[in-house]
Amino acid sequence: MTLHRTAEPVLELSGIHKGFPGVKALSDVSLRLFPGEVHALMGQNGAGKSTLIKVLTGLYTPEAGTIKLGGETIAPRRTEEAQALGIQTVYQEVNLCTNLSVAENICAGRFPRRWGRIDWSAVNAEAKRVLAQMDLDIDVTTPLSRYSLSVQQMVAIARALRVQARVLILDEPTSSLDDAAVQRLFTVLRRLREQGLAILFVTHFLDQTYALADRITVMRNGETEGEYLASDLSRLALVNKMVGAPPDQQPTRLDSRAPNTGAAVLKAQGLTRRGALHPLDLELKRGEVLGLAGLLGSGRTEAARLLFGADAADAGHVETEGRTGRWHSPREAIAAGIAFCSEDRKHEGAILDLSVRENILLALQARHGLGLVMSREAQQALADDYIKRLGIKTPSADTPIGQLSGGNQQKALLARWLATNPAVLILDEPTRGIDVRAKEDLMDAVRALAHKEDGSGMSILFISSELPEVLHCSDRVLVMRDRRAAGEYRRGELDERSVLEVIAAEPVSAAA
Ligand code: ADP
Ligand code: MG
Repeated sequence: MTLHRTAEPVLELSGIHKGFPGVKALSDVSLRLFPGEVHALMGQNGAGKSTLIKVLTGLYTPEAGTIKLGGETIAPRRTEEAQALGIQTVYQEVNLCTNLSVAENICAGRFPRRWGRIDWSAVNAEAKRVLAQMDLDIDVTTPLSRYSLSVQQMVAIARALRVQARVLILDEPTSSLDDAAVQRLFTVLRRLREQGLAILFVTHFLDQTYALADRITVMRNGETEGEYLASDLSRLALVNKMVGAPPDQQPTRLDSRAPNTGAAVLKAQGLTRRGALHPLDLELKRGEVLGLAGLLGSGRTEAARLLFGADAADAGHVETEGRTGRWHSPREAIAAGIAFCSEDRKHEGAILDLSVRENILLALQARHGLGLVMSREAQQALADDYIKRLGIKTPSADTPIGQLSGGNQQKALLARWLATNPAVLILDEPTRGIDVRAKEDLMDAVRALAHKEDGSGMSILFISSELPEVLHCSDRVLVMRDRRAAGEYRRGELDERSVLEVIAAEPVSAAA
């Protein structure tokens, strides 16, 4: 392992701040990269990793902070500028033109020319040369669309490797690679490290981090949690830092409440989807909050999507009061009394130019279709009622939801699903990107919905990347790892350390 602790960092970021409306994505973030190292940037989903990289490459302009390359302050305004300075990046979202050939994709923007024209034989030869570095021998004149996602990902990396760089940044490059491709990529990265390149490697796979990284920077909630030597940091300690459990193991405080003995409202048996979830059994009782803990990719969101019919299961079935089967669409799940507040707020969430009221009424309307006969007064009353009950801070129900803070938008989305009066409510990362006060409000609201004195409470599946939140909210916690249930804890036996140990355990098999 090469560590250049005496050398100067090739890249140094300090005091970086970057916000989006209602969200502090980066707050006082720092990062140092040394020549000849692989540096893993780790953090849960939403921690700010991608945003940091986009600041670094000129896609976003930070509100504050400095970036130094080779000791000189730089302020790239465009990706091309960053590239010209020697910072090459492969983004999480692969942006290639799949209708163009492999070679065109690798050389696009910097085609070899001859007599003022693109020299196609040089283009193809150049593409072959770069791919050979990665032990990849494919027909470079074939359109990229003919190849698997895994090859496409390798082509994106080849494109970045084509130019001699000082810093190579890879944002989750392995998420669509199979094991063999990951090994090939790692061989290439080790070779580049020996040549003195500084490599920033973003991943949420612990195994890959320990296989490759010399140092690790952990981000959490838009802040730099710390920088460590990989050899000094145990898996358990790393997971601890990512999920934000306090170092001293204080017992988790839960509101006192009798253990739940209600009837099962939702039951899943052998619920399976190839490549997404191993057979999962799950039971949710009336008035119970069941937490799903685990790292990104552990199968939590996948389970939620199957329970809601957003993805189709290959095997197994779901049972609710009065309905048993396998959903073919969310519509069926909704009809069975299941609501799903997705983590993907941008695509499935708030419609920013509609009013708070319209946003709240959306799911109810979808359920009743055109048959919704509700007077304007009744709609107004319903929206006002939720605004009051959940404490949504808005000038009025007619205010466009885009003008509200992230936390208040999130509450309005919660109201949207509550208005359908579901038996089961699935909340996937409901506290993502909202401030601490709003998080506490939201968790209070969640527990109040489930914990009704008369036993009529809602049954809630609560997914969060913040372990303290899961432990705080839940009556029972299911820990997931490698796309299966790996442990279950009841209230009273909940303790952060044992949950963390299950999350951080070595994978059962190589086929993760
Ligand atoms: P990571 O890559 O670690 O998963 P991101 O950098 O993508 O995290 O996101 C950090 C936070 O910033 C999240 O709360 C996310 O919702 C928010 N965010 C990221 N990009 C945008 C954007 N373009 N607009 C608004 N919010 C954003
Ligand atoms: Mg990301």
